[in-house]
Amino acid sequence: DTKPTREGGLLGRLFTRPGAAPVVRRTLDDDMLEQLEELLIASDMGVDTALRVASNMAEGRMGKRLSTQEIKTLLADEVTRIMEPVAKPLPLFPKKPQVVLVVGVNGSGKTTTIGKLASQFRAAGKSVVIAAGDTFRAAAVEQLEVWGQRAGVPVLKAAEGSDPAALAFDALTKAEADGADLLMIDTAGRLQNRADLMEELAKVIRVIRKKDPSAPHNTLLVLDATTGQNALSQVETFRKMADVTGLVMTKLDGTAKGGVLVALADKFGLPIHAIGVGEQIDDLAPFDPQDFARALTG
Ligand code: GDP
Repeated sequence: DTKPTREGGLLGRLFTRPGAAPVVRRTLDDDMLEQLEELLIASDMGVDTALRVASNMAEGRMGKRLSTQEIKTLLADEVTRIMEPVAKPLPLFPKKPQVVLVVGVNGSGKTTTIGKLASQFRAAGKSVVIAAGDTFRAAAVEQLEVWGQRAGVPVLKAAEGSDPAALAFDALTKAEADGADLLMIDTAGRLQNRADLMEELAKVIRVIRKKDPSAPHNTLLVLDATTGQNALSQVETFRKMADVTGLVMTKLDGTAKGGVLVALADKFGLPIHAIGVGEQIDDLAPFDPQDFARALTG
């Protein structure tokens, strides 16, 4: 069992043996390197990233005796180095209204994230309009309306089952007429029918571009961090459907090990604009690479 323990952090097991007292230092040999790789893979980092991270940590240090603290620092530095380039707040463009298209599979936290973002924008003095673009899920529209009320932001909806592209177009028209700063468009996330979904998203994008060729200004992919390596295939899928410009990682307050963020950054280099750290309206935080690295390392 190579699952990282909470007490010793991710690397705790390198310095403990069953039935023996934990050691403070250990010689970095092939055995330890292999164990390190296993721990990193078990943290959701994915095989490729885990092997590269372990190899960078070991470079020039084979045969040296390392303390728990030294190896933790090496890992934290390596993780910070990978994550720093992707830690970027959502870019705001002078264009008004700025269109933020929000994509992701059902259950990833799209609705919640839109509500949290709308609330943050409102607090920053921006006027926001939300379009409930998942017109086939009545429950999703209702949820979004609840979040709209919480954030103090109007939510535009259409009849159940109606064309999301038409709604997006009408919403952009209204946002323009109202002089809104931002339009956030929710979208469907039923991956069971990819071809349909791809066509639907493509049409939404095509239609809003008829009004504003520069839109959408941001296409946010919301990913549930607790789905581990699945998040990687979701990026690949949604990138085929839309020009994803950035990520929001949700549910990092739970049991998610978070290693998948390192894999995502290493593999795709997409900006992480924010992280979800709970179910309440204020539970959306900027992504801080150093805090993240420290939390992951333990
Ligand atoms: P959607 O189907 O993608 O729109 O997903 P929802 O926004 O409805 O979220 C699905 C579930 O995840 C809900 O129960 C949310 O409360 C929960 N959720 C969303 N974001 C977070 C988060 O950052 N932390 C936690 N703990 N739960 C979250």
